Amino acid sequence: MLESENKERILRGIAASPGICIGKAYLVDREGVEVIPKYFVHASHIPQEIKRFQAAVKLAQDELRQIIEETPEDLKIHTGILETHLLLFQDKMLYGRTIEDIQQEGVNAEWALKKVVSEVKATFQGMADEYLKERVADIVHVSDRILHHLTGNHHVKIADIDKRVILVARDLSPADTSQIQLEHIKGFLTDLGGRTSHTGIIARSLGLPAVLGLSNATALIRTDDLIIVDGSAGLVIVNPTEETLVEYDERQGRYEAYRAQLSRDSHLEARTQDDTFIRVMGNIELPEEVVSVIDNGGDGVGLYRTEFQYLSRRDLPSEFELFDKYRDVVEVMAGRPVVIRTLDINGDKALQDANTHIEVNPALGLRAIRYCLKHPEMFKTQLRAILRAAAFGDVRILFPMITGMEELKEARRLLAEAALGLQREKVAHNPDIPVGIMMEVPSAVIIADQLAARCDFFSIGTNDLMQYSLAIDRGNRHVAYLWDPLHPAILRMVRRVAEVAREAGIQVAMCGEMAGEPIHVPILIGLGIPEWSMNPNAIPVVKRMVRSLAAAPCRDFIGEISGMTCAREITKLAWKTFGQALTGQPFAD
Ligand code: PEP
Ligand code: MG
Repeated sequence: MLESENKERILRGIAASPGICIGKAYLVDREGVEVIPKYFVHASHIPQEIKRFQAAVKLAQDELRQIIEETPEDLKIHTGILETHLLLFQDKMLYGRTIEDIQQEGVNAEWALKKVVSEVKATFQGMADEYLKERVADIVHVSDRILHHLTGNHHVKIADIDKRVILVARDLSPADTSQIQLEHIKGFLTDLGGRTSHTGIIARSLGLPAVLGLSNATALIRTDDLIIVDGSAGLVIVNPTEETLVEYDERQGRYEAYRAQLSRDSHLEARTQDDTFIRVMGNIELPEEVVSVIDNGGDGVGLYRTEFQYLSRRDLPSEFELFDKYRDVVEVMAGRPVVIRTLDINGDKALQDANTHIEVNPALGLRAIRYCLKHPEMFKTQLRAILRAAAFGDVRILFPMITGMEELKEARRLLAEAALGLQREKVAHNPDIPVGIMMEVPSAVIIADQLAARCDFFSIGTNDLMQYSLAIDRGNRHVAYLWDPLHPAILRMVRRVAEVAREAGIQVAMCGEMAGEPIHVPILIGLGIPEWSMNPNAIPVVKRMVRSLAAAPCRDFIGEISGMTCAREITKLAWKTFGQALTGQPFAD
């Protein structure tokens, strides 16, 4: 090993989830095989090397066949592309040429395959023909599958990790993160991803330190390397020196003491000094996280993201399975509100691994309410489960990604049908629950007054609202620098939604990540948004910030910033005006 490999190195990424952890790295390679070994094979071993390649092709084919077979009937429309992939395994361009290269150049199968794929890519690069471009993408998928079998480097199941480690991955899908066992995973790092990607959101709700968007952590870190993750600063230190270790050990202690102090008064109400009450609730992905909402002093579940019960499996959950989980959450919350959002699948939370690459632009594709309205039977199963759980407490239903009135009307029609079915079958349920819509697409904001006539509340989803109005892919680290909820356009939209709701006499809440940032507290108070929902771990600090402020100056502050044009200036002014309430120190420019 080279001496320099053991030198302390600092990597900088996006500070996605605060906290510090120190431990051994564990590499999970989920997105293609990054490092392909090259070696020469003795002439006498070439037939064996070809057989090794053919065996890997067979395994990859079998794996794909199994995926196709296990795809539920109503999703079979998506498997056409996989059938095409099956044919590609035997394609002359890929299969034939790889074997030729092994024979003629005497190289290992992985290297020969990689070379062939690079040549195919080079040949078709720059061609305008969309069909050919897609075929190249197909070849890459197929070859990745074969490579995984050749290198034996595939499908590390995160749920099976049984040591205390820090995960290092190219990317982690929601299906991966939903398998994380808190007793084994201390924190994680990824090459890709932005602050509002679901990987970041889940890290924050699990309370795990995380740095995302590091670009090449998987190339620079090896399994078992000692690393420090500083999720608050967005830093990773690889092979730290003794001195750095001591320093971070102390910092970790200080951070934990700060968290402990915050949680001691987290059960106090979030009421401003001039008596404005804010309901501060928690966002959950998994039913078990409801405990964290209670522990952190949450006044309810303001967003229950239900899609995670559909991930990491090939079949669909039954009505009873869903109802059982929803009821658990509702019962634990004991009368406090639970806002259950219907399935927000696809986009960045693909229903199945196999479907991930089917849509060219999944964020604008068949996701969320669109997907549900196309699969009414599947949707009604969930609606029935929600209505049944509503018999056990204060349940509200929330439809994601509404872009226009037709979707809202159709979703409501199916909800009414689900209620009627339950009534006919004499199954206990509550048909009369508040119906809300996510405000996360600009078109919905523009017609908010029309939509308000057909729903009981709005919940502002700043993560997607920013993605769609500022054109920032929320998972793309290259544009993460543009992410700023204090962009004047976002502030105007939030303000409009709040005003429309007030005029129409309906409720308004915010459940996007904007609500969980303490420096946004005075702005949300000033804009008159009375209910917020956030990562449970953010609740204590946000509640404390509310208690330290009065509402009147927050409203004045909105007047002050309404003519400002630059997000950075607004942020600076917010820190200057309210930073001391947060940090106890005057703001230093
Ligand atoms: C949002 O878009 O702001 C939101 C809360 O929903 P999600 O992050 O699940 O897309
Ligand atoms: Mg959203």
